Formats: sequence, structure tokens, C-alpha cells
Amino acid sequence: MSVQEQLKKITSGLPPHVTLVAVSKTKSNALILEAYTAGQRDFGENYVQELLTKHEALPKDIRWHFIGHLQSNKVKFIVPFVHLIHGVDSIRLLEEINKQGAKAGRVVKCLLQIFIAQEETKFGLSYEECREFLVSDRLKSLHNVSIQGLMGMGSLTANNKQLEQEYGQLNAFFEELKLNHPHLNTLSCGMSGDYQLAIGQGSNMVRIGSSIFGEREYKEKG
Ligand SMILES: *Cc1c(COP(=O)(O)O)cnc(C)c1O
Repeated sequence: MSVQEQLKKITSGLPPHVTLVAVSKTKSNALILEAYTAGQRDFGENYVQELLTKHEALPKDIRWHFIGHLQSNKVKFIVPFVHLIHGVDSIRLLEEINKQGAKAGRVVKCLLQIFIAQEETKFGLSYEECREFLVSDRLKSLHNVSIQGLMGMGSLTANNKQLEQEYGQLNAFFEELKLNHPHLNTLSCGMSGDYQLAIGQGSNMVRIGSSIFGEREYKEKG
């Protein structure tokens, strides 16, 4: 199936309140344009250099999502145009985004990444760290970032029970936070293999790569 056909198949099955981020990392501009021509505007990348090159070359109304692990020294390159940064997991990183946001005259939208998987290698805050983070004085002084919600990556497992539990807990936590932080509106979880399950557990933003563009040629660094 072509990119357009895959995309149509996926979007036609998504509830209207769910945003699809087409994860285009390692994929060519030509393939991205195929999805763009079919109406897709939200794309996700996780390497800064690759994102910069693609942003330069591709239509300017694309909403670029940064979904990888962001290093502080690279923040300044993407802040002028990025639509949403999904993987914020430290106040220091957020402070740097804020600083660069001020320089660029923007309020940069961010999601806090929560650690929900069993593996030890994944980045993210614990639930407790996130609770404290959201009420910290340091955060209140950052006027050029706006925290929109949470992002999570489930365990690398085919065990749906496990994933349901992880995404379900994440959503329960999101609902809890919204009581005190009613502006939070985005829960980013679910990928090609588990997005339907994630939506069932309350996700309203899914990040789908291989089901749209085909398998990637090389493995990501994570
Ligand atoms: C690569 C990636 C995805 C997409 O994965 P697929 O299994 O190809 O859909 C989603 N989220 C993040 C953070 C990724 O790095």
C-alpha cells in the first residue's frame, strides 16, 4: 500500500479528538510530501539535524513535533519553529527551552515525558517528580514555555495487558493533574503497534511511523 493509502486507512479509524503525528524519522522528503499532499500536517522527528534539514526543504505549514531526547545544546536550533516538544524530562531542559523561546519571541509548547515502561533505559519523570515539577516555583517563572500535557512510551512488549496498564495509569494520572491544572489538554501515547489500545486508555495524540511509511532502514538510538 502507498503512503497515502496507509494514511487514509489509519486516519479513517481515528476518533476526531485524536491527533495523528506522522513519525517521519529516517524517511525521505518525497515520502513526507506524499503524506502532506494527502492532507497530513503534523510530523514527528527525533534527530535535531534531520529535523532542521527537513524543515528547511519542506512546506512551511507543516507542524513539526520533536519526539526524541533533546539535548540542551541543540534546543536553540529547533525552538524558532517547532510546534510541540514531546520529551521534556528535566527542569534544566525546560529552562533552556524558555531561554531560547524568549530570544525567538515565542511561547514554546511542551509535553512532560513520564516514565511508564518496565525497561530501565527510557527517559522520563516519575509520577511523583511530575507532580512536584508542575507546582514548582522555578516552573512558574518560565513565561516562554507552555506545558500542554504528558507523553509516555510503553514497554517494548507484545503483552497488551501490560501496555493497557501502563497507558491506563498514565491517563489516570493525566486526569488527576487536570483537576489542578485545567489547561492541560494533550496526552501523547501510542505508536504503530499499540495506538488503538492507547486511544482506548485515553490517548488523544498518537505517534505513528512504520504503519504509515513502512519499516525504517536502521534502528533508532532511542
Ligand atoms: C519512532 C518513534 C515512534 C513511532 O514508532 P512506530 O513504531 O514506527 O510507529 C513514536 N514515538 C517515538 C518517541 C519514536 O521515537
